[in-house]
Amino acid sequence: MTTRRTFLFQVVPAVAAVTVLGNAALAEPKLSADNNPAAKALGYVPDASRVDKQKYAKYQDGQKCATCTNYTAINEQSGTCTMYKGFEVESGGWCNAWAVKA
Ligand code: SF4
Repeated sequence: MTTRRTFLFQVVPAVAAVTVLGNAALAEPKLSADNNPAAKALGYVPDASRVDKQKYAKYQDGQKCATCTNYTAINEQSGTCTMYKGFEVESGGWCNAWAVKA
């Protein structure tokens, strides 16, 4: 039988630990040109202001992951991209696969 004391000092901390560890395990690595060859090939940058405008002439000011159809926000700073499964991208990032969000 679980007493109130057992619940407070054993069950509650165990549930909290599982929750914290579970969230940490779910966190995906941040995408970069160094850890993903496709990101490198498509010129991904975590900050759209750093796009190589000579190389990627299609880039226009205002384009960023947050306005791309491939982006789903996790929070204000980052989200996921259908192009790079298993990675997190910056909301202010950009790559050459950018397409306007409908
Ligand atoms: S496809 Fe869109 S959301 Fe994905 S990295 Fe490129 S610009 Fe960002």
